[in-house]
Amino acid sequence: MSTGRYREIRFGGRELRVAVRRNPRARRISLSVRGGEVRLTLPPGASEATGLAFLRSRGTWIEDRLMKAPEPVPFRPGESVPFRGRARRICVVPGLRDPLRVEEDRILLAAAAGSERLVEGWLRREARLAFEEAVTRHAAALGVEPRGIAIRDQKTRWGSASAAGRLNFSWRAVMAPPLVLDYLAAHEVAHLREMNHSPRFWRLCRRLCPETDAAERWLRAEGPGLHRYGHEA
Ligand SMILES: [Zn+2]
Repeated sequence: MSTGRYREIRFGGRELRVAVRRNPRARRISLSVRGGEVRLTLPPGASEATGLAFLRSRGTWIEDRLMKAPEPVPFRPGESVPFRGRARRICVVPGLRDPLRVEEDRILLAAAAGSERLVEGWLRREARLAFEEAVTRHAAALGVEPRGIAIRDQKTRWGSASAAGRLNFSWRAVMAPPLVLDYLAAHEVAHLREMNHSPRFWRLCRRLCPETDAAERWLRAEGPGLHRYGHEA
């Protein structure tokens, strides 16, 4: 399975994340923009440097496409937010005793004021609980012990593992279907054994999470779109 690689480049005053892929059947270098992510496809024999030079020569085109990227969705009453893969609508219910309560497919707020902070805070707490559960389960299966979990808002990666055994995850993963978060936890736990992306690593990862390939596909297609939610979008 090709997972591709990511390059961070400074471009037009912004930090651009570029997914670089090699395609043995490609005839030429090509670019696409999807969900705010720029993809660079290289045919056999083309160097990455040549590809990035090509990318820079298409600056206006890329800016245009990025501008047409999906609109940001603030955490405000009336908006829908995905949670564990299902849309939940933010509603204000005056007189609600708690500042925030979740019922079925609705996120209820006592007032519109502070909705961004409340909804993001709730998503972060849920992300922590879900990652703690999944990491504990995968770590037990593998017989490893992580040194701690941190929940962050990483723009460029969904998770990471330090050599010291600390695992970091993006809270935005809690918006994705559960199998995606489970895979991300399995991926970083597997790094506690294999600090690389070797075939051995992927075997380990698939053993922990049989849905690894489906989750990777989901992240490639839908992952970038999760960055449009909340005030960080
Ligand atoms: Zn990895």
